[in-house]
Amino acid sequence: MAVALKVSGAIPIGCAYTGETMLDYRRFKEINELFASGQPEKARRLLMELQSRCIALRDEMSMLKLRLQTCEDSLYLSQNLFTEDGLYWLRTAGVKLGPFCPRCYESEGGLVRLEKQKQGLVCPYCNTTCQSTLPSARDKADTVHSRPARILPFAK
Ligand SMILES: [Zn+2]
Repeated sequence: MAVALKVSGAIPIGCAYTGETMLDYRRFKEINELFASGQPEKARRLLMELQSRCIALRDEMSMLKLRLQTCEDSLYLSQNLFTEDGLYWLRTAGVKLGPFCPRCYESEGGLVRLEKQKQGLVCPYCNTTCQSTLPSARDKADTVHSRPARILPFAK
């Protein structure tokens, strides 16, 4: 697939990463011409320059993918997380998951499932005790009691 990239003047090798790394595809033709005209050293240098730009582009793409994933996670949470009786719940594929610790979510953006203990619903991460009057909260906590709590690293 051809990708249109903005073409600019020469970028020096090892230049500081600016977040706007570009790849000039005309330079591949230039390399070809250098080889054809018997200038392998020049061609090799140009090839190395392009290689370093490719690496920078790949790094930028990885970083952008990560940022996109973070945005998608935040969007998903904003659309599917809801509070009920002061506790957080997540609706996913029609199933209500939770309850999650309100303190952990509000302070760090993490979803930690509360565990039912005799004093109430307890967060295994911050040890906050929550009282829920909702029967669904108590029932749900009962059914997930044997499962270990997980911290989901959602961004705020
Ligand atoms: Zn907590």
